[in-house]
Amino acid sequence: MSAHPAATATATATATAADPACAAPLPVLGRDVTVPLVTGGEVTYAALDYAASAPALQRVWDDVAAYAPYYGSVHRGAGYLSQLSTDLFENSRGTVAEFLGCRSDDQVVFTRSTTDSLNLLAAALPADCQVFVFETEHHASLLPWREARVTCLNAPRTPEEAVQTLERALADRDPHGPALVCVTGASNVTGELWPVRELAAAAHAHGARIVLDAAQLAPHHPVSVQEWDVDWVAFSGHKLYAPFGSGVLAGRADWLTAAEPYLAGGGASRKVARRADGGVDVEWHETAARHEAGSPNVIGAYSIASACKALTEAGFDRLVARERHLIDTVRAGLAQVPEVKVLSLFGDDAPRVGVLSFVVEGWNSSHFAAALSAEYGIGVRDGLFCAHPLVRTLLGSDPQAQGACGAPEAASGEKSLNAIRVSFGAGT
Ligand code: PLP
Repeated sequence: MSAHPAATATATATATAADPACAAPLPVLGRDVTVPLVTGGEVTYAALDYAASAPALQRVWDDVAAYAPYYGSVHRGAGYLSQLSTDLFENSRGTVAEFLGCRSDDQVVFTRSTTDSLNLLAAALPADCQVFVFETEHHASLLPWREARVTCLNAPRTPEEAVQTLERALADRDPHGPALVCVTGASNVTGELWPVRELAAAAHAHGARIVLDAAQLAPHHPVSVQEWDVDWVAFSGHKLYAPFGSGVLAGRADWLTAAEPYLAGGGASRKVARRADGGVDVEWHETAARHEAGSPNVIGAYSIASACKALTEAGFDRLVARERHLIDTVRAGLAQVPEVKVLSLFGDDAPRVGVLSFVVEGWNSSHFAAALSAEYGIGVRDGLFCAHPLVRTLLGSDPQAQGACGAPEAASGEKSLNAIRVSFGAGT
């Protein structure tokens, strides 16, 4: 591929980042990594796949490096370093709670990821809980509820239609049992923002609760559990400029405290005794520790807290404004190329975070993404982005024709069966 205009438009995002008129990007690891090009020579790598995993903030790295020589066991030692680690771990909950605008009695449970957080909540659902999800969700929000009674709602075409669709579905439900709505704050495919506050109001008006998948929202946009009145929120450290392996589920304590521990083991148990009949009696903790059995990921929790502080100090107003500029630049570039179709559920003007997917007519998206890497040193993602039903809806493709992962060859001129995603963030 020689200088396809859509590739040039994508490359513009990095050019914009170097524009002195822009607010400075936050320092992240790997900014100066150079990669070889097939055309010869090398170029500074442009990480435009923040939606999959964002580079860690330098600040997070520095905080972890400063603490690492002193780390010790958490909740399991009387020594100074154990106490220090326990304090850092526990204080990280408070930092995260503040970042998310939690209620004072909310719990912050440290998990491995958003997927883990939502599976934990799924394991804590009360008996006979009905779950409502839109088909547009990431698989992490779509799949954990399969043991429950799930209603999968059609993809809405406007935020208003999303609220109406949910209201209709909730009005038809059995009003006596518990119900949960799971919704994403920002799509990992289109970047579009969902009307979280309105969906929460609809859920509560019908006696349901709501969990917000903030995996794509939290790195780009302030979250307020209290103001939006959501019951739980989940996100991942590795998308929030912290390392892999850590995540958060924050929100109401009651369902979590009533549930069996997600994992059984030390740390989750307050008192364990052998019974005379040979069995074992256990009293579980009622705090977040109930679902954090085993030695916790203190570095992960501390990294998330460090990232939360860094983003708050940088100021979301500035981060959002900068990202908007980047999105507008890429969109304007892509709009010049008639073969490009940007994917959107809610329309061109819908507010979105720095995530954008498109197809290029006549091009297989996988080949296009590979060429962006090989010829420009730009890292994007191609595929169905773990949101198969949504991408198929957006592409207007027949699910039966595609198979499970749907990335077959598209001959020149055929409709693409997968897409290309460009995503940026605070370090771009
Ligand atoms: N939810 C959304 C909207 C996502 O984009 C992702 C990951 O891409 C997830 C959930 C799952 O996150 P993780 O893989 O960190 O569990």
